Amino acid sequence: MPLEILTIPCLDDNYAFIAHDAGSGETMVVDVPEAGPIRTALAGKGWTLSHVLLTHHHADHIQGLPGLLADCPATVIGAAADTHRLPPLDLAVSEGDTFTFGGQTCHVLDVSGHTVGHIAVHIPGADAVFTADSLMALGCGRVFEGTFQQMWSSLAKLAALPPETVVYSGHEYTLANAKFALSIDPENPALISRSETVETARKNGQATVPSTLAEELATNPFLRPSDPAIRAGLNMRDATDAEVFAEIRACKDRF
Ligand code: ZN
Ligand code: FE
Repeated sequence: MPLEILTIPCLDDNYAFIAHDAGSGETMVVDVPEAGPIRTALAGKGWTLSHVLLTHHHADHIQGLPGLLADCPATVIGAAADTHRLPPLDLAVSEGDTFTFGGQTCHVLDVSGHTVGHIAVHIPGADAVFTADSLMALGCGRVFEGTFQQMWSSLAKLAALPPETVVYSGHEYTLANAKFALSIDPENPALISRSETVETARKNGQATVPSTLAEELATNPFLRPSDPAIRAGLNMRDATDAEVFAEIRACKDRF
C-alpha cells in the first residue's frame, strides 16, 4: 500500500486526514481544524509529522495549526495566492505545481469557488485527492468568494481525474447533501441506494467520507449537470453545463 490515510473527525463536522508513507516514514496532515485529535492519532500510530497541507484559509481548516506545530514541527504547504491570509508557509504552491511527499508526486489543482485560492492535491500513485470544501461527498462547497462558473471549472477538473480516485473531502455533510440531491435527481437508482447507505452509516455514527470519484460521478448532482433527467427536471434542456450547475447550486443555497 503506497500511503496509509486516516480520517480524523474534528470540531462538529470537519475532517482532517493523516497520510503516512511507511517507506520514508513521512507523515502529512491535510487541514488542521484542531490540534488535539491529530496529535492523538499521530501518537496512537507512533508517526512523526513531517508535512502539513492547508487547502484554504477558512478558520475551521487552519485554526489548530499553531498548537500542532508547537510540538510537531513540519513543512507547511498552502496556496501561493493566499499567503496574505494563511499561516506562514514553507512551500507556496499554485495550479500545475508538484511536490514530493512520501515518495509520491503530489499535483496541485486550483479549485477556486468556495474561496478564491482553494487548492486540491491529487496523488495519482495513491489514487487519492484531497478536495476539502470544493468537491464534497454528494455535494460541493458553498460559493463564497468565487463565481459559479469558477466553481464549475474546478469541479470539472476534479471530475476528469481517474474514477477510482478516492475523494477526501472536508466535512460530514453527506446526509443533508443526500436529501438535496434526491430533490434534483429523484429517479437516479445509484443515488437512491447511496442515500440509504449514508443514512445507515450516520445512524451507526460512521463517517461517509472518503468516497470514490466514480460514486460522485454517478450520484453527486453538482457533477451531473449534463444528465438529461436533471436538465428536464430543471427545464434547462438547452443550457450549458455551467448554467445547469449554477442553477443546482442556487437551488441548494435555498434548500
Ligand atoms: Zn471552507
Ligand atoms: Fe470548511
